[in-house]
Amino acid sequence: MTICLVSCLLMASTSVFPQISNTPGTVYKDGFSYHEISPAIESRITGSSYRENPDISLDDLRYVKIKYVDFEGNEKSGELIVNRRIAKDIAEIFYELYKHEYPLEEVSLIDNYGASDEKSMEANNTTSFNYRKITGSSSLSRHACGMAIDINPQINPYVKGNTVLPANGKAYAQRDEKKCTGKYASAMIQRGDFIYTLFKKHGFSWGGDWNSLKDYQHFEK
Ligand SMILES: [Zn+2]
Repeated sequence: MTICLVSCLLMASTSVFPQISNTPGTVYKDGFSYHEISPAIESRITGSSYRENPDISLDDLRYVKIKYVDFEGNEKSGELIVNRRIAKDIAEIFYELYKHEYPLEEVSLIDNYGASDEKSMEANNTTSFNYRKITGSSSLSRHACGMAIDINPQINPYVKGNTVLPANGKAYAQRDEKKCTGKYASAMIQRGDFIYTLFKKHGFSWGGDWNSLKDYQHFEK
């Protein structure tokens, strides 16, 4: 009984590492954890991806640390801010992506790009939270509450009529891998593929399944 209590306490203490972010956190796997927003992260995102608003508070968000494999096969550390309701899903999904060496060019906060969706997309950066409106609309995006994530946006562009975003993703606007002239044609997200199935399993929908426009980079819950 005593041994169990001690080991349980030890387990509990190893699942929290305040020394890393100064905030309580949950470790999913080595290198994969999610944390409350620390003062350091708060000052990094305030006035950039985050501002005072009636829709989402910092308490609703989590800072997620992950590992991933890039297109050259290098292991990298990544970071995301998502809604606390999907923090566990995101840690689990990115662990599976990592295990399968699913290539991601970069996974970093959009604040590294001045909260510019365009610049982040051009850099092929995978990112989630940004308090902003839907592209071409006055309604709030699901990114504004951290419930959406954009994966390798350059090779999975947003396509509406003749508009392709980012502009440097034009080669990937058509989704036939054999016809695609882009360098990363084989990494385009396709209905039914590994990443699609993984997000679906966690209850997300895919922007590539939409009818009015196609947002191939976008998964939301
Ligand atoms: Zn999106």
